[in-house]
Amino acid sequence: MSYMTALHCRECGREYEPGPLHVCEFCFGPLEVTYDYDGMRGKVTRKRIESGPPTMWRYIDLLPIAGDDPIEMGTGFTPLLRAENLGRELGLDELYLKNDCVNPTWSFKDRVVGVAATRARELGFTTLACASTGNLANSVSAHAAKAGMDAIVFIPSDLEQSKILGSAIYAPTLVAVNGSYDDVNRLCSELAGRYPWAFVNINVRPYYAEGSKTLGYEVAEQLGWQAPDHCVVPMASGSLYTKIWKGLTELHRLGLIDEPHTRMSGAQAEGCSPIATAWMGGTMNIRPQRPNTIAKSLAIGNPADGYYALKTMQETNGAAAAVSDDEVVEGMKLLARTEGIFAETAGGVTIAALKRLVQSGVIRRGERTVVFITGAGLKTPDAVMGRLAASLDIEATVESFEAAKREVDARVSAAPATA
Ligand SMILES: *Cc1c(COP(=O)(O)O)cnc(C)c1O
Ligand SMILES: [Zn+2]
Repeated sequence: MSYMTALHCRECGREYEPGPLHVCEFCFGPLEVTYDYDGMRGKVTRKRIESGPPTMWRYIDLLPIAGDDPIEMGTGFTPLLRAENLGRELGLDELYLKNDCVNPTWSFKDRVVGVAATRARELGFTTLACASTGNLANSVSAHAAKAGMDAIVFIPSDLEQSKILGSAIYAPTLVAVNGSYDDVNRLCSELAGRYPWAFVNINVRPYYAEGSKTLGYEVAEQLGWQAPDHCVVPMASGSLYTKIWKGLTELHRLGLIDEPHTRMSGAQAEGCSPIATAWMGGTMNIRPQRPNTIAKSLAIGNPADGYYALKTMQETNGAAAAVSDDEVVEGMKLLARTEGIFAETAGGVTIAALKRLVQSGVIRRGERTVVFITGAGLKTPDAVMGRLAASLDIEATVESFEAAKREVDARVSAAPATA
């Protein structure tokens, strides 16, 4: 049963039929999905959700889908892990990691694409498209393959080889554009007016964006139907960040959790930090940037939801941090060393931002904190290649092994103790 009623303009409130539309025809404000929350009350219960599938589709009642036939790829309901080692190292008593590396195409984008692709199919589209910083193209290509749809994905030509490969394997039409993500996005906005394609993050963006709410739902459910005290979320367009908060507020509206007092903090890389820079400068005016960072999946210089992200930051008493590329690599290594999770550069951004926010006193020791790890490390091997300990190269003899080991032991005992 669908509770979606309309699209409404976030600025002037005008309502539209829930079709392939993303901006208000009157004021050009972004459109957002409206639901019949009163109708959900008493029907969308903890019990009903808990008896659903162990994927994001257990929350289908809260998603903008008209029918009951989602494209099921096993996305979501990913582990929420207690991070005792990392927490001890950073000085946090109750730290959790939401590990979205384990989705079908190894990033959280499977959530947003799952919703967008399902809705696009309902609306009669047979071709899925997107403007991508990498992960989105991977997920769109995979969902099109699973749903028997065509895919045409647009990426900046300077992406990591692994991310290009991660799309190409599903055999989409892969278009590498000589330009930045913002150039790709501008091109795709023009193409969306010319071709009958569902660009998941352009003309069906209102549905796409709702997929990120499932991260908020899952974290609350996995904490025993409680909102965390603090969330740390990587930001590109700022959509994921705002929607995790929306997910928590919806659960409260339905009476499924107490009123959330969660503080929402955002993470960006210095080389592309339009939202964090505005926050630290105390302004709601986002100045577009030309991205230059190894965190390519977050490299959106002109973030579509930046303004709303700043509003959420204000409203929830959160904060933002921007970290250097060196800190990103250190963050990736720290997460791997303490918790055994190999995340992509976006994860390094988030861990490094967490560290900064704890050190600067924004996040307090006792806050129950959830950090969102949104993509897997094998997508961005270049970031750490050459910055990790090399192997012991030996002959297949005991002597050769023991000689190499003696050398290592000598090196370790000569090295100064590190924390
Ligand atoms: C896309 C992406 C994000 C954040 O995207 P938003 O545009 O802010 O919703 C975060 N992490 C990874 C790995 C991504 O690919
Ligand atoms: Zn409007």
